[in-house]
Amino acid sequence: MKETNFDTKTVHFQTKEPSRNLSKAKPIYQTSAFVFTDLDDMESFYEGNKEYLYSRYSNPNTDDLGKGVALLEDAEDGVATSSGMSAILAGVLAVANQGDHVIASDDLYGGTYQLFASELTSFGIEVDFVSFEQIETVRKAIKENTVLLYTESVTNPLLRVENLEDVIALAKEKNIKSMIDNTFATPYLLQPLKLGADLVVHSATKYIGGHSDVTAGVLVGGESIIAKAKSKVITLGCNLSPFEAWLACRGLKTLSVRMDRQCRNAQALADALEAHDGVARVHYPSFVSEKGNGAMVSIDLADNVNVETFFKSLGWVKIAPTLAGVETTVSYPIRTSHRTIPDELRKQLGIGEQLIRISIGIEDETDIIAAFKQAIEAGK
Ligand SMILES: *Cc1c(COP(=O)(O)O)cnc(C)c1O
Repeated sequence: MKETNFDTKTVHFQTKEPSRNLSKAKPIYQTSAFVFTDLDDMESFYEGNKEYLYSRYSNPNTDDLGKGVALLEDAEDGVATSSGMSAILAGVLAVANQGDHVIASDDLYGGTYQLFASELTSFGIEVDFVSFEQIETVRKAIKENTVLLYTESVTNPLLRVENLEDVIALAKEKNIKSMIDNTFATPYLLQPLKLGADLVVHSATKYIGGHSDVTAGVLVGGESIIAKAKSKVITLGCNLSPFEAWLACRGLKTLSVRMDRQCRNAQALADALEAHDGVARVHYPSFVSEKGNGAMVSIDLADNVNVETFFKSLGWVKIAPTLAGVETTVSYPIRTSHRTIPDELRKQLGIGEQLIRISIGIEDETDIIAAFKQAIEAGK
Protein backbone atom coordinates (compact mmCIF):
# COMPACT_ATOMS: atom_id res chain seq x y z
CA MET A 1 0.00 0.00 0.00
CA LYS A 2 2.92 2.33 0.73
CA GLU A 3 3.70 2.99 -2.91
CA THR A 4 0.12 4.00 -3.83
CA ASN A 5 -1.38 7.48 -3.73
CA PHE A 6 -3.69 9.04 -1.13
CA ASP A 7 -7.00 8.34 -2.92
CA THR A 8 -6.12 4.68 -3.28
CA LYS A 9 -4.89 4.34 0.31
CA THR A 10 -8.17 5.74 1.70
CA VAL A 11 -10.03 2.90 0.04
CA HIS A 12 -7.57 0.07 0.67
CA PHE A 13 -6.27 0.76 4.19
CA GLN A 14 -7.81 -2.29 5.86
CA THR A 15 -5.74 -5.32 6.78
CA LYS A 16 -6.70 -8.79 5.55
CA GLU A 17 -9.04 -10.89 7.63
CA PRO A 18 -6.98 -12.64 10.32
CA SER A 19 -6.86 -16.31 9.41
CA ARG A 20 -5.29 -17.61 12.62
CA ASN A 21 -7.31 -15.70 15.19
CA LEU A 22 -10.86 -16.96 15.39
CA SER A 23 -13.39 -14.54 16.78
CA LYS A 24 -15.43 -15.97 19.67
CA ALA A 25 -18.55 -14.19 18.46
CA LYS A 26 -19.57 -14.86 14.88
CA PRO A 27 -18.30 -11.96 12.74
CA ILE A 28 -20.90 -9.97 10.84
CA TYR A 29 -20.34 -10.41 7.12
CA GLN A 30 -21.73 -6.98 6.34
CA THR A 31 -20.93 -7.28 2.70
CA SER A 32 -23.00 -7.30 -0.47
CA ALA A 33 -20.57 -9.63 -2.26
CA PHE A 34 -17.54 -11.88 -1.81
CA VAL A 35 -14.14 -11.61 -3.53
CA PHE A 36 -12.08 -14.18 -5.39
CA THR A 37 -8.36 -14.65 -5.80
CA ASP A 38 -8.55 -15.56 -9.49
CA LEU A 39 -10.96 -16.80 -12.15
CA ASP A 40 -10.56 -20.44 -11.12
CA ASP A 41 -11.49 -19.44 -7.60
CA MET A 42 -14.66 -17.75 -8.88
CA GLU A 43 -15.46 -20.73 -11.09
CA SER A 44 -15.37 -22.90 -7.99
CA PHE A 45 -18.49 -21.09 -6.70
CA TYR A 46 -20.44 -22.20 -9.75
CA GLU A 47 -19.05 -25.71 -9.39
CA GLY A 48 -20.50 -25.80 -5.87
CA ASN A 49 -17.16 -25.76 -4.06
CA LYS A 50 -17.52 -22.28 -2.61
CA GLU A 51 -20.48 -21.09 -0.60
CA TYR A 52 -20.74 -17.39 -1.17
CA LEU A 53 -20.87 -15.04 -4.14
CA TYR A 54 -23.45 -12.32 -3.56
CA SER A 55 -25.36 -11.63 -0.33
CA ARG A 56 -28.79 -11.54 -1.92
CA TYR A 57 -28.17 -15.21 -2.81
CA SER A 58 -26.72 -16.18 0.53
CA ASN A 59 -24.52 -14.89 3.31
CA PRO A 60 -22.91 -16.57 6.35
CA ASN A 61 -25.07 -14.65 8.83
CA THR A 62 -28.40 -15.21 7.11
CA ASP A 63 -27.47 -18.88 6.58
CA ASP A 64 -26.77 -19.13 10.31
CA LEU A 65 -30.29 -18.01 11.11
CA GLY A 66 -31.99 -20.22 8.51
CA LYS A 67 -29.98 -23.28 9.48
CA GLY A 68 -30.22 -22.52 13.21
CA VAL A 69 -34.02 -22.46 13.18
CA ALA A 70 -34.05 -25.51 10.88
CA LEU A 71 -32.00 -27.38 13.48
CA LEU A 72 -34.44 -26.46 16.26
CA GLU A 73 -37.49 -27.30 14.14
CA ASP A 74 -35.97 -30.61 13.04
CA ALA A 75 -36.06 -29.46 9.40
CA GLU A 76 -33.66 -30.37 6.60
CA ASP A 77 -33.10 -26.76 5.63
CA GLY A 78 -34.21 -23.20 6.24
CA VAL A 79 -33.99 -19.75 4.74
CA ALA A 80 -33.93 -16.41 6.52
CA THR A 81 -35.91 -13.54 5.01
CA SER A 82 -36.42 -9.81 5.46
CA SER A 83 -39.61 -10.26 7.55
CA GLY A 84 -42.20 -12.77 8.64
CA MET A 85 -44.36 -11.54 5.76
CA SER A 86 -41.71 -12.28 3.12
CA ALA A 87 -41.09 -15.73 4.64
CA ILE A 88 -44.81 -16.47 4.28
CA LEU A 89 -44.80 -15.18 0.70
CA ALA A 90 -41.74 -17.25 -0.26
CA GLY A 91 -43.26 -20.35 1.34
CA VAL A 92 -46.60 -20.01 -0.40
CA LEU A 93 -44.99 -19.28 -3.77
CA ALA A 94 -42.78 -22.35 -3.37
CA VAL A 95 -45.99 -24.39 -3.43
CA ALA A 96 -48.69 -22.44 -5.27
CA ASN A 97 -48.70 -21.20 -8.87
CA GLN A 98 -51.19 -19.24 -10.92
CA GLY A 99 -54.48 -21.14 -11.05
CA ASP A 100 -53.84 -23.00 -7.78
CA HIS A 101 -56.09 -22.84 -4.74
CA VAL A 102 -55.03 -22.24 -1.13
CA ILE A 103 -57.20 -22.84 1.93
CA ALA A 104 -56.28 -20.58 4.83
CA SER A 105 -57.67 -20.37 8.34
CA ASP A 106 -60.05 -17.43 8.82
CA ASP A 107 -58.29 -16.79 12.13
CA LEU A 108 -54.95 -15.41 10.92
CA TYR A 109 -52.50 -12.65 11.73
CA GLY A 110 -53.91 -9.51 10.06
CA GLY A 111 -50.94 -9.02 7.73
CA THR A 112 -51.15 -12.60 6.52
CA TYR A 113 -54.86 -12.18 5.88
CA GLN A 114 -54.14 -9.12 3.78
CA LEU A 115 -51.31 -10.83 1.87
CA PHE A 116 -53.58 -13.73 1.03
CA ALA A 117 -56.74 -11.74 0.35
CA SER A 118 -55.25 -9.02 -1.84
CA GLU A 119 -51.75 -9.95 -3.08
CA LEU A 120 -51.93 -13.69 -3.72
CA THR A 121 -55.16 -13.26 -5.61
CA SER A 122 -53.42 -10.77 -7.90
CA PHE A 123 -50.80 -13.48 -8.62
CA GLY A 124 -53.73 -15.57 -9.84
CA ILE A 125 -53.74 -17.76 -6.73
CA GLU A 126 -57.22 -18.44 -5.39
CA VAL A 127 -57.64 -18.27 -1.60
CA ASP A 128 -60.54 -19.37 0.58
CA PHE A 129 -60.66 -18.51 4.26
CA VAL A 130 -62.49 -21.06 6.38
CA SER A 131 -62.73 -21.90 10.05
CA PHE A 132 -60.18 -24.58 10.98
CA GLU A 133 -61.95 -25.37 14.27
CA GLN A 134 -63.77 -28.30 12.69
CA ILE A 135 -61.60 -30.23 10.25
CA GLU A 136 -64.72 -31.18 8.25
CA THR A 137 -65.13 -27.51 7.28
CA VAL A 138 -61.62 -27.58 5.83
CA ARG A 139 -62.27 -30.88 4.06
CA LYS A 140 -65.40 -29.46 2.41
CA ALA A 141 -63.42 -26.48 1.07
CA ILE A 142 -60.90 -28.69 -0.78
CA LYS A 143 -61.14 -28.40 -4.56
CA GLU A 144 -59.40 -30.08 -7.45
CA ASN A 145 -56.80 -27.31 -7.66
CA THR A 146 -56.16 -27.04 -3.91
CA VAL A 147 -52.42 -27.26 -3.23
CA LEU A 148 -51.97 -25.87 0.29
CA LEU A 149 -53.55 -25.72 3.76
CA TYR A 150 -52.31 -22.76 5.78
CA THR A 151 -52.83 -22.06 9.47
CA GLU A 152 -51.14 -20.91 12.69
CA SER A 153 -50.21 -23.31 15.51
CA VAL A 154 -51.43 -20.84 18.13
CA THR A 155 -53.70 -18.13 16.78
CA ASN A 156 -53.59 -14.40 17.30
CA PRO A 157 -55.10 -12.76 19.32
CA LEU A 158 -57.46 -15.36 20.83
CA LEU A 159 -54.73 -17.96 21.30
CA ARG A 160 -56.68 -20.89 20.00
CA VAL A 161 -54.43 -23.97 19.74
CA GLU A 162 -54.80 -25.50 16.29
CA ASN A 163 -55.38 -29.21 15.98
CA LEU A 164 -52.32 -29.68 13.78
CA GLU A 165 -52.54 -33.48 13.70
CA ASP A 166 -55.93 -33.25 11.96
CA VAL A 167 -54.83 -30.53 9.52
CA ILE A 168 -51.66 -32.41 8.58
CA ALA A 169 -53.49 -35.74 8.27
CA LEU A 170 -56.04 -34.16 5.91
CA ALA A 171 -53.30 -32.60 3.79
CA LYS A 172 -51.49 -35.93 3.52
CA GLU A 173 -54.69 -37.78 2.65
CA LYS A 174 -55.42 -35.31 -0.17
CA ASN A 175 -51.78 -35.15 -1.27
CA ILE A 176 -51.54 -31.41 -0.70
CA LYS A 177 -49.02 -29.42 1.34
CA SER A 178 -49.45 -27.97 4.80
CA MET A 179 -47.77 -24.80 6.03
CA ILE A 180 -47.85 -23.67 9.66
CA ASP A 181 -47.06 -20.26 11.13
CA ASN A 182 -45.35 -21.27 14.38
CA THR A 183 -44.50 -17.74 15.55
CA PHE A 184 -46.50 -17.77 18.79
CA ALA A 185 -45.53 -21.27 19.88
CA THR A 186 -41.85 -20.98 18.90
CA PRO A 187 -39.73 -24.08 18.13
CA TYR A 188 -39.12 -24.35 21.88
CA LEU A 189 -42.73 -25.34 22.57
CA LEU A 190 -43.79 -26.97 19.31
CA GLN A 191 -42.24 -28.45 16.17
CA PRO A 192 -44.95 -28.93 13.52
CA LEU A 193 -42.55 -30.60 11.05
CA LYS A 194 -42.22 -33.49 13.49
CA LEU A 195 -45.97 -33.92 13.17
CA GLY A 196 -45.61 -34.07 9.39
CA ALA A 197 -46.12 -30.48 8.23
CA ASP A 198 -44.32 -29.50 5.02
CA LEU A 199 -43.37 -25.92 5.83
CA VAL A 200 -43.05 -23.93 9.03
CA VAL A 201 -42.73 -20.18 9.08
CA HIS A 202 -41.70 -17.76 11.82
CA SER A 203 -41.79 -14.05 12.21
CA ALA A 204 -38.31 -13.91 13.79
CA THR A 205 -39.25 -10.34 14.71
CA LYS A 206 -41.02 -11.97 17.65
CA TYR A 207 -39.64 -14.66 20.00
CA ILE A 208 -36.66 -15.74 17.90
CA GLY A 209 -35.22 -12.22 17.91
CA GLY A 210 -36.83 -11.62 21.28
CA HIS A 211 -35.62 -8.08 21.89
CA SER A 212 -37.81 -5.98 19.59
CA ASP A 213 -34.78 -4.74 17.66
CA VAL A 214 -34.99 -6.68 14.41
CA THR A 215 -37.52 -7.41 11.67
CA ALA A 216 -36.89 -10.84 10.16
CA GLY A 217 -38.49 -14.09 9.05
CA VAL A 218 -37.50 -17.72 8.71
CA LEU A 219 -38.96 -20.51 6.62
CA VAL A 220 -38.00 -24.14 7.25
CA GLY A 221 -38.89 -27.45 5.67
CA GLY A 222 -37.59 -30.25 3.46
CA GLU A 223 -34.57 -29.64 1.26
CA SER A 224 -36.34 -29.50 -2.12
CA ILE A 225 -39.20 -27.24 -1.03
CA ILE A 226 -36.76 -24.87 0.71
CA ALA A 227 -34.62 -24.83 -2.46
CA LYS A 228 -37.69 -23.55 -4.33
CA ALA A 229 -38.40 -20.98 -1.61
CA LYS A 230 -34.76 -19.82 -1.70
CA SER A 231 -35.01 -19.12 -5.41
CA LYS A 232 -38.15 -17.01 -4.72
CA VAL A 233 -36.29 -15.14 -1.97
CA ILE A 234 -33.41 -14.45 -4.37
CA THR A 235 -35.50 -13.22 -7.31
CA LEU A 236 -38.04 -11.31 -5.24
CA GLY A 237 -35.25 -9.79 -3.15
CA CYS A 238 -36.73 -10.96 0.16
CA ASN A 239 -33.29 -11.60 1.65
CA LEU A 240 -32.38 -10.50 5.16
CA SER A 241 -29.51 -8.14 5.90
CA PRO A 242 -26.44 -9.70 7.54
CA PHE A 243 -26.64 -7.45 10.61
CA GLU A 244 -30.31 -8.20 11.21
CA ALA A 245 -29.54 -11.91 10.85
CA TRP A 246 -26.71 -11.57 13.34
CA LEU A 247 -29.04 -9.88 15.85
CA ALA A 248 -31.70 -12.55 15.38
CA CYS A 249 -29.08 -15.28 15.91
CA ARG A 250 -27.97 -13.58 19.12
CA GLY A 251 -31.59 -13.57 20.26
CA LEU A 252 -32.10 -17.20 19.29
CA LYS A 253 -29.38 -18.32 21.71
CA THR A 254 -31.51 -17.33 24.71
CA LEU A 255 -34.86 -18.57 23.36
CA SER A 256 -35.18 -21.37 25.94
CA VAL A 257 -34.44 -19.29 29.01
CA ARG A 258 -36.65 -16.42 27.86
CA MET A 259 -39.53 -18.74 27.03
CA ASP A 260 -39.27 -20.58 30.36
CA ARG A 261 -39.59 -17.35 32.30
CA GLN A 262 -42.16 -15.78 29.99
CA CYS A 263 -44.41 -18.85 29.99
CA ARG A 264 -44.25 -19.04 33.77
CA ASN A 265 -45.13 -15.35 34.11
CA ALA A 266 -47.95 -15.72 31.57
CA GLN A 267 -49.49 -18.65 33.42
CA ALA A 268 -49.35 -16.67 36.68
CA LEU A 269 -50.97 -13.62 35.10
CA ALA A 270 -53.67 -15.71 33.39
CA ASP A 271 -54.49 -17.37 36.74
CA ALA A 272 -54.58 -14.05 38.58
CA LEU A 273 -56.85 -12.37 36.00
CA GLU A 274 -59.17 -15.37 35.75
CA ALA A 275 -60.19 -14.62 39.32
CA HIS A 276 -60.57 -10.86 38.75
CA ASP A 277 -64.04 -9.32 38.54
CA GLY A 278 -62.82 -6.67 36.06
CA VAL A 279 -62.06 -9.38 33.51
CA ALA A 280 -64.90 -11.05 31.60
CA ARG A 281 -62.74 -13.70 29.99
CA VAL A 282 -59.12 -14.82 29.90
CA HIS A 283 -57.82 -16.36 26.68
CA TYR A 284 -54.84 -18.54 27.54
CA PRO A 285 -54.18 -22.01 26.10
CA SER A 286 -54.67 -24.88 28.50
CA PHE A 287 -52.05 -26.93 26.69
CA VAL A 288 -49.41 -26.13 24.10
CA SER A 289 -46.51 -28.24 25.36
CA GLU A 290 -45.06 -29.82 28.49
CA LYS A 291 -42.64 -26.92 28.60
CA GLY A 292 -45.35 -24.27 28.81
CA ASN A 293 -48.40 -22.76 27.17
CA GLY A 294 -46.89 -19.69 25.59
CA ALA A 295 -46.23 -16.15 26.68
CA MET A 296 -49.28 -14.40 25.26
CA VAL A 297 -52.44 -13.77 27.27
CA SER A 298 -55.51 -12.03 25.88
CA ILE A 299 -58.33 -10.74 28.04
CA ASP A 300 -61.81 -9.36 27.52
CA LEU A 301 -62.18 -6.56 30.03
CA ALA A 302 -65.54 -6.51 31.77
CA ASP A 303 -68.03 -4.06 30.21
CA ASN A 304 -67.71 -1.71 33.17
CA VAL A 305 -63.96 -1.27 32.64
CA ASN A 306 -63.11 1.70 30.44
CA VAL A 307 -60.55 0.64 27.81
CA GLU A 308 -59.04 4.13 27.33
CA THR A 309 -58.48 4.53 31.08
CA PHE A 310 -57.06 1.02 31.33
CA PHE A 311 -54.46 1.83 28.65
CA LYS A 312 -53.57 5.12 30.38
CA SER A 313 -53.07 3.41 33.74
CA LEU A 314 -50.56 0.69 32.92
CA GLY A 315 -47.53 2.37 34.49
CA TRP A 316 -44.30 0.78 33.22
CA VAL A 317 -46.14 -1.57 30.84
CA LYS A 318 -45.89 0.00 27.39
CA ILE A 319 -48.43 -0.03 24.60
CA ALA A 320 -46.83 -1.55 21.51
CA PRO A 321 -48.19 -3.00 18.28
CA THR A 322 -45.85 -6.00 18.50
CA LEU A 323 -45.10 -8.84 20.85
CA ALA A 324 -42.54 -11.27 22.20
CA GLY A 325 -39.92 -8.87 23.55
CA VAL A 326 -38.37 -9.24 26.99
CA GLU A 327 -40.57 -6.37 28.18
CA THR A 328 -44.26 -6.89 28.94
CA THR A 329 -46.36 -4.92 26.43
CA VAL A 330 -50.03 -4.61 25.56
CA SER A 331 -51.83 -4.05 22.30
CA TYR A 332 -55.35 -3.34 21.19
CA PRO A 333 -56.10 -5.78 18.34
CA ILE A 334 -59.07 -3.98 16.78
CA ARG A 335 -56.94 -0.88 16.22
CA THR A 336 -53.65 -2.59 15.27
CA SER A 337 -53.09 -6.18 14.09
CA HIS A 338 -56.74 -6.70 13.15
CA ARG A 339 -57.52 -3.28 11.76
CA THR A 340 -57.70 -4.60 8.21
CA ILE A 341 -59.96 -7.57 8.99
CA PRO A 342 -63.53 -6.84 7.83
CA ASP A 343 -65.84 -5.89 10.76
CA GLU A 344 -68.14 -8.80 10.17
CA LEU A 345 -65.36 -11.40 10.25
CA ARG A 346 -63.82 -9.74 13.31
CA LYS A 347 -67.11 -10.02 15.22
CA GLN A 348 -67.53 -13.60 14.10
CA LEU A 349 -64.04 -14.39 15.41
CA GLY A 350 -64.84 -12.77 18.76
CA ILE A 351 -62.38 -9.89 18.49
CA GLY A 352 -64.27 -7.13 20.22
CA GLU A 353 -63.92 -3.66 21.74
CA GLN A 354 -62.92 -4.97 25.19
CA LEU A 355 -60.21 -7.34 23.93
CA ILE A 356 -56.66 -6.62 25.11
CA ARG A 357 -53.65 -8.64 24.00
CA ILE A 358 -50.78 -8.95 26.46
CA SER A 359 -47.25 -10.04 25.57
CA ILE A 360 -45.63 -11.17 28.78
CA GLY A 361 -41.98 -10.34 29.38
CA ILE A 362 -39.26 -11.59 31.70
CA GLU A 363 -39.92 -9.15 34.55
CA ASP A 364 -40.87 -10.14 38.09
CA GLU A 365 -44.17 -12.01 38.14
CA THR A 366 -45.67 -10.09 41.08
CA ASP A 367 -44.89 -6.74 39.46
CA ILE A 368 -46.59 -7.80 36.22
CA ILE A 369 -49.74 -8.93 38.03
CA ALA A 370 -49.83 -5.76 40.14
CA ALA A 371 -49.51 -3.53 37.05
CA PHE A 372 -52.54 -5.14 35.38
CA LYS A 373 -54.67 -5.24 38.51
CA GLN A 374 -54.02 -1.56 39.06
CA ALA A 375 -54.91 -0.62 35.46
CA ILE A 376 -58.14 -2.65 35.59
CA GLU A 377 -59.15 -1.04 38.90
CA ALA A 378 -58.41 2.42 37.45
CA GLY A 379 -60.67 1.67 34.50
CA LYS A 380 -63.68 0.71 36.63
C1 LIG B 1 -45.79 -10.58 13.29
C2 LIG B 1 -46.35 -11.78 12.69
C3 LIG B 1 -46.22 -12.02 11.31
C4 LIG B 1 -45.55 -11.06 10.37
O1 LIG B 1 -44.19 -10.94 10.69
P1 LIG B 1 -43.31 -9.62 10.36
O2 LIG B 1 -41.97 -10.00 10.90
O3 LIG B 1 -43.95 -8.47 11.03
O4 LIG B 1 -43.32 -9.47 8.88
C5 LIG B 1 -46.76 -13.20 10.82
N1 LIG B 1 -47.40 -14.07 11.62
C6 LIG B 1 -47.55 -13.86 12.94
C7 LIG B 1 -48.27 -14.86 13.76
C8 LIG B 1 -47.04 -12.71 13.52
O5 LIG B 1 -47.20 -12.48 14.83
